[in-house]
Amino acid sequence: MNAGLNTDAMTAPTQGPEQQPMTADEVTAFLSRLVTPVQETQELPLFEALGRVLAADVMSPLDVPPHDNSAMDGYAFAGSQLAAGAALELQVVGTALAGKAWQGASGPVKPGQCVKIMTGAVMPAGLDTVVPQEFTKPCQGQGSDCITIAADTLRLGDNRRLRGEDLAKGRPALRKGELLTPARLGLAASLGLKTLSTFRPLRVAYFSTGDEILSLGEPPREGAVYDSNRYTVFGLLSRLGCQVIDLGVVRDDPALLEAAFRTAATQADAIITSGGVSVGEADHTRTMMKKLGDVAFWRIAMRPGRPMAAGRISSKKSTESASGAGTTDSFSYEKESTGDGAVLFGLPGNPVAVMVTFLAFVRPALLRMMGASVLPAPLLRARSLEAIRKKPGRTEYQRAWVSTAADGSLNVKTTGSQGSGVLRSMAEANGLMVLHHGQGDVAAGDEVDVMMFDGAI
Ligand code: AMP
Ligand code: MG
Repeated sequence: MNAGLNTDAMTAPTQGPEQQPMTADEVTAFLSRLVTPVQETQELPLFEALGRVLAADVMSPLDVPPHDNSAMDGYAFAGSQLAAGAALELQVVGTALAGKAWQGASGPVKPGQCVKIMTGAVMPAGLDTVVPQEFTKPCQGQGSDCITIAADTLRLGDNRRLRGEDLAKGRPALRKGELLTPARLGLAASLGLKTLSTFRPLRVAYFSTGDEILSLGEPPREGAVYDSNRYTVFGLLSRLGCQVIDLGVVRDDPALLEAAFRTAATQADAIITSGGVSVGEADHTRTMMKKLGDVAFWRIAMRPGRPMAAGRISSKKSTESASGAGTTDSFSYEKESTGDGAVLFGLPGNPVAVMVTFLAFVRPALLRMMGASVLPAPLLRARSLEAIRKKPGRTEYQRAWVSTAADGSLNVKTTGSQGSGVLRSMAEANGLMVLHHGQGDVAAGDEVDVMMFDGAI
């Protein structure tokens, strides 16, 4: 069964061409109800699990660290000998190396004695405090086997790491839904785990539409542009760890479009298309989406990225039986299609609009389908270095460069022309300035919200 479809969501708001535009928040809420996480899991060796999503909580099978040990290179001793205002002299009776427990030839360490100890070495029995090497001096008039600790430099328990301090046996070390980051892989390894239970990766098919779109290798021609969307979408999906199915550029021909949608719906959990979703599009993309699925077409109150379609494409639904589906914006769910087909994200054609709608809507929805319980990255506040005109009533995403000011706060300025087709503005940006729905003009020096690209782009 293909993942990603929440049938309960199918009663969600639909929108006809004459209705009010959807807000960005409404689109996000709709998509979060539309998609559901994959169910199939895979047990993977750690080296193959990077970027995957954990399918089960991981309980620690042992204490980490497994024994009390030293956090410093220094001397271990019994901290009860420390007295306020008094220096302490200790005889060095041996050396505890990392990797093996120290055993004194003449029994346990006695009061007045200490053991030289390396970072990570097991604390010898009865000792609970470590004085770092640099806090000690040789004792006056004695050989190298005696150290002095100046008064009031340490407290009992200093520089000792306790058994189970990082993770106690039987406690959850990692949670279902967490993305496996480098740190989490390391944590799993520290528990001695060789494999982890992960959700299978998502399969995402994508293609570009439009008769004016050239594939790489084709000679330039009047009125045509090279397909950039497939490359940005490929990159964005790969960053998410999705398995990509590239269906190329699909000509504006009903048979070719139908074949592409059917292939995609059979093979993939999600389909991403670009182009052909605006109201009044002359091409067949929109018509075919309506015929093959339950798809809502929106005008979103945002810039860039106004037109967008979302819903489900069936691999089986016959074009003949879908009477009337091509002429309305209806969005009805058909029960017999459960489990078949894929979630559709029909993105606008403009290259920047593709990236912005992907980041704003598709990426969070795909993460949810991947089984990831990630919270949206917090927006940062930065001082705009320029005045920006902004109409209340739509969300605007300005391509931006965020930098650190001399006082350590953040500055932000836009990157060149903000036209929704100007990919250069995206290529030169390290984040997006997010000007919210109700917000008006920004004056130079005003603080605005910014979304950093981080690892997403
Ligand atoms: P559409 O949404 O189909 O009306 O396309 C809007 C604009 O985006 C038009 O100028 C298209 O030429 C351009 N466009 C559509 N698809 C692509 C693509 N795959 N690569 C580059 N530009 C595109
Ligand atoms: Mg078009």
